[in-house]
Amino acid sequence: MTKMSPLLERNAHFAGSYEPAALGIPSQQVLIVTCLDHRVDPAIVLGLELGEAPVIRNAGGRVTQAVVDDIAFLAVLAEQLFVNQDDPDTLFEVAVVHHTQCGTGFLSDPGFRHQVAEVTGIPEAGLEATAVVDPHETVGADVERLLTSESLSTKVSVSGHVYDIATGRLTTTHDARYPQHPAAARASYGR
Ligand SMILES: [Zn+2]
Repeated sequence: MTKMSPLLERNAHFAGSYEPAALGIPSQQVLIVTCLDHRVDPAIVLGLELGEAPVIRNAGGRVTQAVVDDIAFLAVLAEQLFVNQDDPDTLFEVAVVHHTQCGTGFLSDPGFRHQVAEVTGIPEAGLEATAVVDPHETVGADVERLLTSESLSTKVSVSGHVYDIATGRLTTTHDARYPQHPAAARASYGR
């Protein structure tokens, strides 16, 4: 037995009327980075349908090196898929979404952080950096982290948003911008 049993029943219902789509460009041209919290599912709070937007989720929705690497890979993949499109100068927008009441906020407590570090072996500094206490502050930091990453394509823009658990409302805190880092500028001059 598995706790998946009721979900497998839902899947059987889903597959009954399913139409597969070919691999292509996500139709909303947006990639969402957000928290793994089960109250913040982008498919539900943003009404995403299959094929509309890739989603990267981790604790806090933080822009880690792994997230930066995934976005770099997806930009190369999108470039391949965009080959026959009219507007190859833009690929997609990365929307970083942090939220209120984030469970990673507990990591700002030194005692709790120490305990987690002891049990998991994760360095305390890494845990402290993960904590989302004020989502407006951390989303700004993570938008900057992406925009200054040398591996971010100049054809990818980045925006920041905060989701309020209490109201269900998403607010844009940082409008979409393209990277201005020196390596990106060099790459675009070379085009
Ligand atoms: Zn969270």
